[in-house]
Amino acid sequence: MSKGSTDPKASLPATGNVAAPAASASGTRASLQRAFSVAIFPVLFGGLLAYAYVSVPERGGAALGILMAMAYTTIAICERLFPHAESWKHYLREDFVPDLLFIGTNNLLSGFRDIAVQTIGLFVAAQFAGQVGFHLWPQSWPLIAQWALALVVYEFGHYWAHRMAHEVEFLWRFHSLHHSPSRLYFLNAARFHPIDTIWLNLVSITLPLAMGAPREVLLLVAAVSIVHGVFQHSNLVLHLGPLNWIFSGPELHRWHHSKVLEEANTNYGTNLIVWDTLFGTRFLPDRAPPEDIGIEAPKAYPKGFFGPLLAPFRWRQLEVAAGAPESASGARAA
Ligand SMILES: [Zn+2]
Repeated sequence: MSKGSTDPKASLPATGNVAAPAASASGTRASLQRAFSVAIFPVLFGGLLAYAYVSVPERGGAALGILMAMAYTTIAICERLFPHAESWKHYLREDFVPDLLFIGTNNLLSGFRDIAVQTIGLFVAAQFAGQVGFHLWPQSWPLIAQWALALVVYEFGHYWAHRMAHEVEFLWRFHSLHHSPSRLYFLNAARFHPIDTIWLNLVSITLPLAMGAPREVLLLVAAVSIVHGVFQHSNLVLHLGPLNWIFSGPELHRWHHSKVLEEANTNYGTNLIVWDTLFGTRFLPDRAPPEDIGIEAPKAYPKGFFGPLLAPFRWRQLEVAAGAPESASGARAA
């Protein structure tokens, strides 16, 4: 079960009677920030998903591309106005270009990934349907209900794939790339090693595919992942309140990027937090999340684009270069 809860007001700037103009201006800004932090997620997330609901079934992947562009642009602008951490704003020199290259690489691979996902998924579906003897997916449900069901089923696979990526050293070598930056901002949502992307996607998509979920429903799940991923990694001041029991939003996910293993090996949900709640890994203590984030080991983890891509294959060398003992493991097993 959850290890704690937060009071959304606890970290908000105080407001009150002020006399000086400067204090008045800061009071106005605090009020604006408070309104923004509560409203932006329901309004923008809800609005983008409404667009997805209308356009994805009709236009498919093209609508997902537009959705991604809209999510990146709006959240990048909002981050300049209401940042959660000032120190995370300076991503241009170190992270921005490598992250663009990671987005490009992962998108180039998506064709192969889709074929692999479909092939394995259809094979599993055929085996499963043959044994059970009937079609499992409730095709007669309203589209919105199928969307919600697919999301919960998808998240189950993702939860375990992600948790294994933290607890199995071989998988952590690839997943560590996602945790290596010292800041979170909108592009961090796309910073994954291609092999990690394939692993997470294959495991997540297999169960809904095996149950017979239609393509348009799976594309709608992809739409949620795109928009929620940008929010989840954003440097936005946000307070989701009770929505923190449904979505795996940024207030939860900042703990997942902590350098402290006991804090980081929590909150594995990519969109929903329900499976973390069920399996006892939901973590939201009543204090501010760490601003100093990243990974402690190996200390010599490379920066840029090619270094992190090759890092999983040079893991022992990196550990030795950092002065770690031979037996030291990079895995995040708590
Ligand atoms: Zn992770």
